[in-house]
Amino acid sequence: MSRSEQYTSEAVQIAPRVWWVGSMLRDDQFQCHAYLIEQGDQSVLVDPGSALVVEEVMRKVDSIVGLSNVRWLICSQPDADILAALPKLEERGLHRDAQIVTHWRDEASIVHTGTALKFWRVEDHHWRLVLQDRTLRFVLTPYLHFAGAFCTFDEETGTLFSSDLFAGFNEEGALFVDSVEDIDSIRKFHEHYMPSREILAHALHQLRELPVRLIAPQHGRVIPEIWVSRVFDFLENLECGIFLIARDDPGLAFLLSANRTIHDVINTMVREQNFSVVAAYLSELATHTLGAQYFELWAGGGDLTFRFDQGDSFAGHLEDPPPDVLAVLSGESAQPGQRLILPLRSKVTEQIDGAMLWGFRERRTMSQATMAVLTQIINLVEVGLERELLRRSADIERTAWHTQAIHDSLTGLYNRVSLDDSFLRLAAFDDRNFEPMMAALMIDIDLFKVVNDTFGHAVGDQVIRRVAEAVTHCVRPSDLTFRFGGEEYLVFLSNVNATAAINAAERIRQRVIGAGSEVPTVTVSAGVALRKPGEQHETLIARADQALFLAKSNGRNRVELAL
Ligand code: GH3
Ligand code: MG
Ligand code: MG
Repeated sequence: MSRSEQYTSEAVQIAPRVWWVGSMLRDDQFQCHAYLIEQGDQSVLVDPGSALVVEEVMRKVDSIVGLSNVRWLICSQPDADILAALPKLEERGLHRDAQIVTHWRDEASIVHTGTALKFWRVEDHHWRLVLQDRTLRFVLTPYLHFAGAFCTFDEETGTLFSSDLFAGFNEEGALFVDSVEDIDSIRKFHEHYMPSREILAHALHQLRELPVRLIAPQHGRVIPEIWVSRVFDFLENLECGIFLIARDDPGLAFLLSANRTIHDVINTMVREQNFSVVAAYLSELATHTLGAQYFELWAGGGDLTFRFDQGDSFAGHLEDPPPDVLAVLSGESAQPGQRLILPLRSKVTEQIDGAMLWGFRERRTMSQATMAVLTQIINLVEVGLERELLRRSADIERTAWHTQAIHDSLTGLYNRVSLDDSFLRLAAFDDRNFEPMMAALMIDIDLFKVVNDTFGHAVGDQVIRRVAEAVTHCVRPSDLTFRFGGEEYLVFLSNVNATAAINAAERIRQRVIGAGSEVPTVTVSAGVALRKPGEQHETLIARADQALFLAKSNGRNRVELAL
């Protein structure tokens, strides 16, 4: 027997003691499904059905437990194709204590069927109905179709009785989803019957928490486990309901899209530090929603600019604001037209210190609704920019602190703080050479104590600065010079052999003497050490120091090469 034949004639067990008891109608695209949870004289009928199917439903229920054993009638929403079966069912005779399981918002409508049955409200029973061998949980999915719409989840079998959610059109009569085309019928159903993507997403979000293994909707087809997560994913991003109207209504389309952009911008601002992501959303809003050909954001006295017609370039470079922006800043009001210019105010000073610009090829006027949305966006952008500017100034301050920390204030040379790091970087480059091409120069002012003693400390300081200048003047910008001690300097030379390193030291020595016109005249001694393969800075510096010691012992004002 094929599935579709089963579907038309007998009840079908879709999970242990869970039965499809619906009816196949010719030329009915909805195919209203009812389901029976078999629990002896406490049996449950889910979404009983329409007047058109009630005879078939009763026949199938009778074949399993008998209608008089149906104690619970779950009505997931007050829809005619769920409730119209009620009078017939009551007339034929349900369990004597039969009750309608529903939400109070639905009850208000259901009483108008004239039913004599009592109501059992899900919200009064902690959203749970405990049965003999299973517990049913109820999840409110409001406004999915009706204000009190809910889904029923059977924990025992993982079956979700989802009512209109996950429903599809079904004209062929097969009971189970087994192809991508079936998913497409779910898409069409949701586009037309679900009010909005947001409401649909909210319902899906709640149901994602449940370990769903089977979905039994009131229309369309039963969804087996292998399709469950796919259908969830698929529906999550589906445009529906109001969106269909929006297709023909540009104003509504704009509001929906702008609303989503605002939502995205807020989310981004909460999650991300980086304003460029927010700016990317704004450019998307500019192009897709407003239909602008050009978008520019300028803020923070020119510290931040962003324009989308140059790709996603967003930089903190300084740039003169365009004339239109200057006009706004100088107090002229923005006129809708070729360009829409919205001023941005600093949250701190409350002064206008930036603007957003939308450029349009054609003249256009903005509706009140559009302007209202843009005003909301402006507020967000102002907050976002404020934060970005703060972040940037903190970065600048951090950089300044760092610069200060690694430099010697007297000479402007590096101090020893960054020596280890610098050496590691240079050595890493040097290690790529076939043999080392790095050298250390240790330079010390001769008899400096005399300078201090004769001319005073302040003059001594000047000499230290002058020699520092002489050293940096004689080496390449890529060489690193440190003030190693009081009147001692260390230079790491890159890409040198012994001759080049000695020559550099010689140049320094001679330049210091050359400044002889300046009083007091000083000389320096220098030690040169060439790096050995894999040598670390401690031993390299120690060897340069030994060479310096040799230069001092050999009479000062000279250069010696370390062994
Ligand atoms: P040598 O040729 O052997 O190097 O003789 P020297 O006099 O230079 O010897 P030494 O290294 O013992 O003396 C260095 C002096 O430099 C001692 C110290 O007072 C002075 N000095 C260290 N740092 C500073 C500084 O920042 N400013 C000034 N003015 N003097 C400093
Ligand atoms: Mg000295
Ligand atoms: Mg010294």
